[in-house]
Amino acid sequence: MSNMIFAPLEIPHTLAAGPGPGNTDPRVLERFASAGTADHMQPDVLRGMIECKLMLREVMGTSNVHTFGVAGTGWSGLDMMFSAVMPGDKVVVFANGTFSGIDGLTVRMKAATADELRANPLDPDAASVTLIDVPHGQSVSGEIVEAALSEHKPKWAVMAHWETGSGRVNDIRGFSDACERHGVMGLIDAVSSLGVEDFRIDDFPGVAGWASCPQKGICCLPLTYAPVSFTDRYIEELRKTGCRTFVHNPILEARHWGIVDGQDVDKGTYHRTHSPYAVSAFHEALRITLQHGVRQRARDYAFHETALREAVTAMGCKVTSNMTSLVVLNLPDSLAGREMELVQSCRAQGFGIWPTLSEPVQVRIGILNLLTQEAITEIVTRFAHAMQDMGADVDIPAIQDQLTRHFDTAIAAE
Ligand SMILES: *Cc1c(COP(=O)(O)O)cnc(C)c1O
Repeated sequence: MSNMIFAPLEIPHTLAAGPGPGNTDPRVLERFASAGTADHMQPDVLRGMIECKLMLREVMGTSNVHTFGVAGTGWSGLDMMFSAVMPGDKVVVFANGTFSGIDGLTVRMKAATADELRANPLDPDAASVTLIDVPHGQSVSGEIVEAALSEHKPKWAVMAHWETGSGRVNDIRGFSDACERHGVMGLIDAVSSLGVEDFRIDDFPGVAGWASCPQKGICCLPLTYAPVSFTDRYIEELRKTGCRTFVHNPILEARHWGIVDGQDVDKGTYHRTHSPYAVSAFHEALRITLQHGVRQRARDYAFHETALREAVTAMGCKVTSNMTSLVVLNLPDSLAGREMELVQSCRAQGFGIWPTLSEPVQVRIGILNLLTQEAITEIVTRFAHAMQDMGADVDIPAIQDQLTRHFDTAIAAE
């Protein structure tokens, strides 16, 4: 008998209080676990995919026919969105943190000529790509975008809507307007904002492509479906140039979602194998989003983020983010430099907060699908105890009172 057979894998439940993945909704887990075994051409699987596509258009606020899910996570959807970027294409990328930095790397890999890629395969320097570096902790403004696009006149411009690395909201209106003014096709990493912020992508006509993820604002499981949406202009351009991928080709992948020759059809045709579990889970996540309502959910995030922000500020932390699903903070001076130690001790106890992934080291606390008084109180209390354990002077009852007042005021206002 092989001695390489391990015991069944047990993974404990943790409180996912980071930038993502968020807390998969129990309704999603229930649909995932109760889907029958079925192949990817079984009628209910195909019907589920069509229904997902229609619900996703509603969630994203779009009439783009090419709106569907890409199997995988955020990078899968982004890889599909960047597939139309061809070697030598002129691109301007705005980077203000970890994720837009990786978007920039992806774009350099796609836009590099064969020689440029060979010269540095894992980090190519593509002459046709201009990287506009905005410091960590700052937002990309409309003025920054306008200045860069008028100077470089690229074919594509790339920005993260919400940069999760630094917790900053970038100026999507300014970006879209500048793209329109200069005839540029905008590409947006909306991995962190979709399902959290109240916005309709059709209100931003300068943006030709959008990509998000399953497991942040949409509250589905990772490795199900990353939402994407493309305008007709993007698809026309792709028809002209082609792209160097079968699986992540937006025109080909769309067929399985019942989108053929730019039209909705009754039934998808084979592109790749899909999973009934993934389709059921994604379907339920979209139903939850629409039942809650994109607008109401955005309000609930803002309200709960304010509660968390005020609590950590009362503990002496300094918040530098402005996203509503995530608080990025510096510890009080007495604990400065011990961010990683604090995060690690919390994580060791199943309290899944995060550090920043690039310099400077900060603490990130997220509230994805944790929009209740109980959940926020638990996060605040666990964080306060962790700070206290490291020697900080934190008045926990006073902070809990302040939280209770925040929630009572809201109830009184209703
Ligand atoms: C999380 C995130 C990603 C990466 O998504 P994965 O799901 O880990 O592949 C990309 N961009 C942004 C802005 C993100 O927040």
